[in-house]
Amino acid sequence: MQCPYCQHTNSRVLESRSTEAGHSIRRRRECLRCKHRFTTYERIEFVPITVIKRDGSKESFDRSKLLRGIVRACEKTGVSYQRLEALVDEIEAQLQQSQEREFTSNEIGELVLKYLRQENEVAYVRFASVYRKFQGIKDFVEALDRLKNDSIQINNSDSWSKGEAFSPPVLDCFSRSIAAESIKSD
Ligand SMILES: [Zn+2]
Repeated sequence: MQCPYCQHTNSRVLESRSTEAGHSIRRRRECLRCKHRFTTYERIEFVPITVIKRDGSKESFDRSKLLRGIVRACEKTGVSYQRLEALVDEIEAQLQQSQEREFTSNEIGELVLKYLRQENEVAYVRFASVYRKFQGIKDFVEALDRLKNDSIQINNSDSWSKGEAFSPPVLDCFSRSIAAESIKSD
């Protein structure tokens, strides 16, 4: 690793710390020649994920595109950008952990909703309205009903809100909600 100050290639590691829920390692280094200190990040090389869009076309999963969509839907809902970034990290990690390498945009949208529901109710309904293309008030009422009916279950599985790593039961709920939703959408 080249020193950013003198380009010397030898440095010693002063400290290593795991960041982003274990997805990367931050290392504090000291150049052996000029003694300047700098930070490097080591990331796991992710396996590419393919998204199947509603029209059947495919594209590679784009983390920043997903984040932009969520940020837009969550404007003025009080959820911080950092929180949404962490949410996208969780979603990406969950997709990476799956055996599947292809997901429909519907599956990813439902996964976003799963997390948003635990984070902020307004953000949840706003994202649902954009992503499910709500046609009228009836759709909002349905989304709110779902929110109400699921609230008991959410209170029991608040691992996300505590910032803990994703736990298997969440994936269970996820696949079940996909199965239920896929009949309804489009
Ligand atoms: Zn140096």
